Amino acid sequence: MEIRAIKTQRVLSPTQITLADYAINPYRGCEFGCIYCYALQNKNIRNNEEILGIKINAASVLEKELCYKLPKRVLLGSATECFQYKEMEYKITEKIIQLLNSRNIPYTILTKSHLIAEYLPIIAKNKRNKIYFTLNLHSNKLIKMFEKKTPAIEERIRVIKTITAHKIPLRVHIGPFIPYISSLEKIISLLPESIKEINVELYHHTMGNFTQVLNIIERNFGEDMRNKVNSVYKSRNNYLRFAETLEDRISKAQSKHRIKLFLIMPDFDDYYNEKINYGDNI
Ligand code: SF4
Repeated sequence: MEIRAIKTQRVLSPTQITLADYAINPYRGCEFGCIYCYALQNKNIRNNEEILGIKINAASVLEKELCYKLPKRVLLGSATECFQYKEMEYKITEKIIQLLNSRNIPYTILTKSHLIAEYLPIIAKNKRNKIYFTLNLHSNKLIKMFEKKTPAIEERIRVIKTITAHKIPLRVHIGPFIPYISSLEKIISLLPESIKEINVELYHHTMGNFTQVLNIIERNFGEDMRNKVNSVYKSRNNYLRFAETLEDRISKAQSKHRIKLFLIMPDFDDYYNEKINYGDNI
């Protein structure tokens, strides 16, 4: 992956995601390289090589923007991982967090990175901040299939426990939940008892790289499994049938583990517009 310092014109982007009114993405592209990534279309590719853009002026641009924009809440990491490996060198996210803290602007972080651990003391400074931590696959074997450089399960569980220890509001995010591949029950069994809120977000096949996901499924689980996963999205009836089964599993898990589970599953037709409703409006 080529690393390139870039200058950005704008840091606060209005977002359709219901978690915040503005999103901030300190990087363009992402080292973690998840195959199903919804943000793939935003990536820079040149000569088949992906470029990671480091928005080196992000903090100073944000500082100016905050003179005339007052976000109610900011979403950090809607189209990149804020705590990827290069962050440890460039500290763009850290500067942004410090700035938001200094203005008392709350933020919600979407991450699957163990590297967030060293930022927890500064994130904990504003009690309204919240972390959505992703664990959508239940084995390291699956993680290797669908993600390139993300942390292993053990590291993620360790950081989930540390977030709880810092008393930062936390919701585990099982998303994207890939039908017949992600196992709700197995993921829950990996989580510490302190987890009280879980999102289950069904894979948004029109946004992620569905063909490549299906190819990986076929390579590892065979053609029947590929067809089975594909069939979920083939018709409204199939989709509703799958939804019923998933809802049933969610309600069983809810009573068994005494946790709140939130299903994020658009209406069949909503797959074809840009709406992403996380069911947690600001
Ligand atoms: S960590 Fe998030 S932004 Fe990065 S590749 Fe994976 S899904 Fe995409």
